[in-house]
Amino acid sequence: MKQHAVYPNLFSPLDLGFTSIKNRVLMGSMHTGLEEADDGFPRLAEYFAERARGGVGMMITGGISPNMEGGFGAKLSTPEEAKDHRLVTSAVHAVDPDIKICMQILHAGPLAGTSSCVAPSAIPSRIARMVPNELDETGVQKQIDDHVQCTKMAQLAGYDGVEIIGSAGYLLSTFLVEKTNQRDDQWGGSYENRMRFPLEIMRRCRAEVGENFILIFRIAAMDMLQGGMSWDEVVLLAKEMEKAGATIISTHFTWHESTVPTIATMVPRAAFAGVTGRLRKEIKIPTITSNRINMPDVAEQVLVDGHADIVSMARPMLADAELVNKAFEGREDEINTCIACNQACLDHTFGGKSVSCLVNPRAAHETLLNYRITASPKKIAVIGAGPAGMSYATVAAQRGHHVSLFDAATEIGGQFNLAKQIPGKEEFYETLRYYKRMLEIHKVDVRLNTTVSAEQLKQDDFDHVVVATGITPRTPEIEGIDHPSVVSYIDVIRGNCEVGQRVAVMGAGGIGFDVSELIMHSGVSGALDRDVFAKEWGIDFENHPRGGVTGVKPEIAKADREVYLLQRKSSPVGRGLGKTTGWTHRISLAQRGVKMLNGLEYHKIDDQGLHISTDGMPEILEVDTVIICAGQLPKRSLFDEVTTMGMSATLVGGAFEASELDAKAAISQASYLAADI
Ligand code: FAD
Ligand code: NAP
Ligand code: SF4
Repeated sequence: MKQHAVYPNLFSPLDLGFTSIKNRVLMGSMHTGLEEADDGFPRLAEYFAERARGGVGMMITGGISPNMEGGFGAKLSTPEEAKDHRLVTSAVHAVDPDIKICMQILHAGPLAGTSSCVAPSAIPSRIARMVPNELDETGVQKQIDDHVQCTKMAQLAGYDGVEIIGSAGYLLSTFLVEKTNQRDDQWGGSYENRMRFPLEIMRRCRAEVGENFILIFRIAAMDMLQGGMSWDEVVLLAKEMEKAGATIISTHFTWHESTVPTIATMVPRAAFAGVTGRLRKEIKIPTITSNRINMPDVAEQVLVDGHADIVSMARPMLADAELVNKAFEGREDEINTCIACNQACLDHTFGGKSVSCLVNPRAAHETLLNYRITASPKKIAVIGAGPAGMSYATVAAQRGHHVSLFDAATEIGGQFNLAKQIPGKEEFYETLRYYKRMLEIHKVDVRLNTTVSAEQLKQDDFDHVVVATGITPRTPEIEGIDHPSVVSYIDVIRGNCEVGQRVAVMGAGGIGFDVSELIMHSGVSGALDRDVFAKEWGIDFENHPRGGVTGVKPEIAKADREVYLLQRKSSPVGRGLGKTTGWTHRISLAQRGVKMLNGLEYHKIDDQGLHISTDGMPEILEVDTVIICAGQLPKRSLFDEVTTMGMSATLVGGAFEASELDAKAAISQASYLAADI
């Protein structure tokens, strides 16, 4: 087979002896929520088939429990349940029998969240509600048997293999770590004993399924726990897994209860691949690496550096099902890049909602949202080229409508041009690149520096007007709001105003947090530099103390400022941020010394500073700058004008609703509306 000119490693097959994988790209396991839904399996089948058509070499399903006690989701233990899975495996193999689809077996152990949850010892996880039931000898044997039965049923269902998760704080990993395994029988005590449970599962599964079935073990190569696994323990486990019959070792980099971000957008691309690389040198079977590998050049470099044999790109495959084909065909500028926001994927999973993707609302909704060619093309004007306007214009034009996109600004992107300037949010540049290319490809007539009037739109004879003019920042009604010390977040982010040494940020929503991060930042963004990131979060990649973090003190470069981040609500500051990333922002600001105050009232702003009170106790924050981040109001006067003139019009994004607005809502709403016109 001829080598690929740009990605020779990525597009080389991997020989597993009894079979081979056609390229080195894996879609790693992600729970979608469809696994449990009534109409879930037909939807899952289409979700996986779309990614199979997109060129991926191997895919792993979301976690499936081997029994009732292991699950917060679907279970597989009977031939009846295996029938559902047949839909998925048949759909994938119908696209290309060479594409591998494996099922992840996930026994959540103490994280199952039910009263029947089990663990080696009755020790609750920091993040779980339940104290797990300690397994007795019969219970341990049952869990092993159930893993074997689940693997057998996965084989019956037509999967090419299974991945058994042995990380993240789920059952298998709790046997490995002393903190969660306090047993003194053959399953606890020495490391040899603590490894016995996962190794026994691997041995028994191999014996059950024969040689020609892929068995992947997912290991916590760096569990990010104080007192977690040592490097020697990680290596020994991987070697023993190899002997026990594993085909591939997949590396994972966290337990859910860790307080170090490992997949959020502030994590540099491929930050953890080097850890896999070190493990790869110790074993003979192939390794998979993962985490923040979101573009083909990053994946290729990981392989060139010898860090892994297979690169897992999980969320990137939600963002763009065609990522692999686009890379193969030299269409990298058309890739819709995962920005690692977690807003529509992991936040949904942990919020009990079905998964999608902020930049691609079709993800896991392939049977519900389709961009079909229109039978009656319309002439459409879209006003405002923020996320809502860009999405609407792209989808409508893709469907064959004639679309003109107007924006008063000099560049497309709306508020994404502010977001991209926040340290740790550099991935927003990729979304802007993607939309620019989509607008070109679908021949949208983009008119920047242009404010159109309702009259003009009428004169130009548009069939439909889409008002996507976004928002106007809210100006709170406080005495002294026009004081010279008061500035807007827009001017601060754009660098249009001075910010003093002592600052009050009024409003602690997403933007208040981002602005505080920006003004407290100093030096290179950790997202762009692995050493800076490691220092900020106390990770020692070189020496790998236990968990990668034990005893390592974070070192933060920060601006010489005193910052107060303020809100009137009495709930903890930052409570409304994303479920799976909010804590990273709160820790980051706390480490930079930002003082977060809640439950307060604003009285006035004058030369002395910002006058507030908490529980009736007055106080003056002697600040020289007050940055207003107090939410937003819809900007929709154009809609009123065009509808008054009798034109057909739609409101989208912030212009439609500012209070619950974020980019996820804006892009999703615009895409659904444009799919339907
Ligand atoms: P906008 O992005 O505001 O776009 C409106 C566009 O309309 C602008 O380009 C404007 O120039 C144009 N316009 C306005 N009036 C006219 C007119 N009369 N004629 C022509 N053009 C006009 N959301 C998230 O989901 N996740 C995040 O991490 C995130 N981070 C953010 C960080 C920052 C610093 C900021 C400021 C916002 C962030 N957001 C985030 C919010 C997100 O960017 C907005 O929800 C989203 O941009 C709203 O999209 P929109 O298209 O409705 O409006
Ligand atoms: P927001 O989340 O609504 O927060 C606005 C803040 O202003 C609140 O803390 C509110 O708290 C305060 N406020 C509201 N009215 C006020 C008033 N009259 N006077 C003083 N304070 C007032 O809005 P945002 O921060 O502007 O963000 C806009 C959107 O972008 C949000 O939907 C957000 O989710 C999204 N975004 C997301 C991210 C992300 O990382 N996911 C980042 C940035 C932005 P009190 O009323 O309690 O004071
Ligand atoms: Fe990536 Fe955000 Fe989409 Fe999740 S929602 S796949 S993190 S872009």
